[in-house]
Amino acid sequence: KPVISLSQNECLRPPSPAALEAAARAVKDGALYPDPNWQPLRGALADLHNLHPAQVVCGAGSLDLIASLARVYAGPGRAVLAPRNAYPFFRTSAQMANARFDTADETDFTASVDALIAAVAPDTALVFIANPGNPTGTRLAGAELRRLRAALPDNILLVVDEAYGEFADHLGETCLDLIADGNTVVLRTFSKAYGLAGLRVGWGAFPAAIAAEVQKALNPSNLSGPAQAAAFAALQDQDYMRDTCNLTARLRSETVDRLRAIGLAPVQSLTNFILIDFQDTDAAHSADAALRSEGIFLRPQGGAGLPQCLRMTIAGQPALAAATEVLAHWKGQVPG
Ligand SMILES: *Cc1c(COP(=O)(O)O)cnc(C)c1O
Repeated sequence: KPVISLSQNECLRPPSPAALEAAARAVKDGALYPDPNWQPLRGALADLHNLHPAQVVCGAGSLDLIASLARVYAGPGRAVLAPRNAYPFFRTSAQMANARFDTADETDFTASVDALIAAVAPDTALVFIANPGNPTGTRLAGAELRRLRAALPDNILLVVDEAYGEFADHLGETCLDLIADGNTVVLRTFSKAYGLAGLRVGWGAFPAAIAAEVQKALNPSNLSGPAQAAAFAALQDQDYMRDTCNLTARLRSETVDRLRAIGLAPVQSLTNFILIDFQDTDAAHSADAALRSEGIFLRPQGGAGLPQCLRMTIAGQPALAAATEVLAHWKGQVPG
């Protein structure tokens, strides 16, 4: 039986044909080092998002940038703060920087601005929040993020991780403009809506002074030539990316309906995945085991403090149908 992975939030379709061609062309220059300053990718990102190129930094995935931010702005004697059910790499990056990691309660699988503000300590240096969140899939309104920024002391760097931002762009509430305040960073990636996870291209919008510090802490020449070329070409093909987002939203909504019909509790999502709340850790384990025995892998969420949940990536229709069929069968055999 072929293995079906719905565990990594990978894109439901391959990269844009233009990106594939650009990467193949760039491989021919494989004997040469890549551009350490990511031109022209950086310029194209700046143009598309109304930024100055000096405000754009590229990473080998946004993980590279998250780790670099923690290295530069956290450290011994400083704390990193994030919502309790946040993306686990926020904690990892704090640990790698030998900083304390603090969390703030969430409500209904959604980050709480009031709880974050209340959890600020004298040594808090960095606040990470993914919007929409992973693994929850929920998002805060733009006004809530602005309220958070306004309430945080100026010396705390706020990092808004918009890894799934493209899936919510139709709401017109990106926080990219918040970088003008000088102490906010917004991260995005080519791994999700652009389907380039394997090529490792993330980027962020930074106040220029912070961009310079973060770039110093990155490995030089962190992005391969084919990765830069593919991302540049993918960026030119906005229609393809928007089609990916629309297709993902349609399949997500069909899958949510199907899961509800089975009697399961999917959490409202604005991403390319759905968090399913089994309300009970044993039930989540049992459903996971039933799926695994059929070669279908969702992602258990104990690491994000949600052991009663499984996260399901929105893949192509056949894979989703196979997963929901196993879950329907499993649910039919569970008492209650
Ligand atoms: C997927 C993801 C990332 C990072 O992915 P990269 O592939 O390193 O760009 C970052 N943050 C969140 C919240 C994610 O879900």
